[in-house]
Amino acid sequence: MNTRNIFALLAAVPILSACDAPKEETSTTYFSAEQMATAASLRDAAQEDSDTWVLLEELVSVAPKRLAGSPGDSVARDWAVAKLESLGFDRVWVQEFQLRGWARESASATVLSHDNLDLDITSLGKSVSTPAGGVTAEVIHFGTLADLEAATESDVEGKIVFISNRMERKKDGSGYGPANVARSRGHEVVARKGGLALLIRSIGTDNHDAPHTGGMSYGESGAPQTELDIAYEAAISAPYGEETVAAGAISNIDADAFEALFESGEEITVALEIRNNDPGEITSYNIIGEIVGSERPDEVVITGGHIDAWDTGVGAMDDGMGVAITMNAVSMIGELAQRPARTIRYVAFGAEELGLLGAKAYAEAYADVDHVFGIESDFGIGKVWRLSPAVSADAVPVLGEIATVLEPMGIGWDPGASGFPGPDLRPLVTGAGLAGASLNGDGTLYFDLHHTAEDTLDKIEASDLAYNTAAYAALLYLVAEYDGRFDATSQ
Ligand SMILES: [Zn+2]
Repeated sequence: MNTRNIFALLAAVPILSACDAPKEETSTTYFSAEQMATAASLRDAAQEDSDTWVLLEELVSVAPKRLAGSPGDSVARDWAVAKLESLGFDRVWVQEFQLRGWARESASATVLSHDNLDLDITSLGKSVSTPAGGVTAEVIHFGTLADLEAATESDVEGKIVFISNRMERKKDGSGYGPANVARSRGHEVVARKGGLALLIRSIGTDNHDAPHTGGMSYGESGAPQTELDIAYEAAISAPYGEETVAAGAISNIDADAFEALFESGEEITVALEIRNNDPGEITSYNIIGEIVGSERPDEVVITGGHIDAWDTGVGAMDDGMGVAITMNAVSMIGELAQRPARTIRYVAFGAEELGLLGAKAYAEAYADVDHVFGIESDFGIGKVWRLSPAVSADAVPVLGEIATVLEPMGIGWDPGASGFPGPDLRPLVTGAGLAGASLNGDGTLYFDLHHTAEDTLDKIEASDLAYNTAAYAALLYLVAEYDGRFDATSQ
């Protein structure tokens, strides 16, 4: 504010006590002191609150297995509807959508050439079955998908392919995408070259004996750049293609042992059997709840997580945590004396793991909704450590001001970081230019457990859930109160 404006203001408001006098610099620009205080009170209350833990514990108890289309998927839907209603959301409803289903049956791999060593194996998601009786064949080893792509058909024909690329451990999870191409795309390359089946080292950073499942992609063109691109491309492509072979992941411990066998140069023969079911077209659900805005109800801030989970574990981390954190955060905002200006819409997305299918159905059905800002919770197991913007440059300072409420918790702010609203918001980002942010979770340990039988409630700290809920509650409240618009980063 320049001096002339101060004089204009003083002239317009002639009776001011000393303490009411406008200051040259106020501590906040975009939000009132009252709004900031309300956000801080939400933050503090959420950190003392245990309801997120209770919600997560309930979800994984009533619906531990909730792959899209499974019986547990409907149980989880009913649980979420009942919860949102009991938590006082103003509107609660279910969006049904259709998808091509998939169900795991069994997988086994025995190294016949080496003492009938049994490998710990799980099917990759959406894998077809091996022919009846399985396949028994020599195994050919490649370090990476690129190595397989460079091989000749005569190298691969009639063999089982093993790709051993190892995921790197990184706090931001960026080791996932480069390794994951073996899981998402390897099967099509094997099929093209006349191979019989695909085995991969688990896409995970652990050293345990639980193999990691995860979705395969079908019918892609070009190399996806990131995990999110892979998931999104899977969603928009046919769920099952013609060009495929059965595929499984072996545990990292067994992958080490198996890889070592190849160093001897001896021929390695494996008997592999993978059985899965294709139930055809099935129904799954997005569960939606809103607290309706007091001033601009048609402007929607969207948050949530995905309620489906791979059937190997119970999905406590991926993504029961996200479902519970955001549900409780919105519920706490709903308990304030007054609703925020904008509507906050919570979505428990279905069928994320089978390829963002609930997210895609949501974006199609609600294309006419004015989504002003989005943030999902679907990454990391520990505390949120940073806020990263996914808005255009002019709105970055608004998030910077919001970050000052999170800063006392120890959450950092990096205006230059590249945030992303979340995988289930991807169709809205790419299709409708949704703006948003990331509350970055710590991915250091995430991929030890991701998509395995080890994704269970005992890995999660109640205090971390409360902490993350506090961050989401404070951020969502302020975004829903903010007078201005947010534009997306240009992508
Ligand atoms: Zn997830």
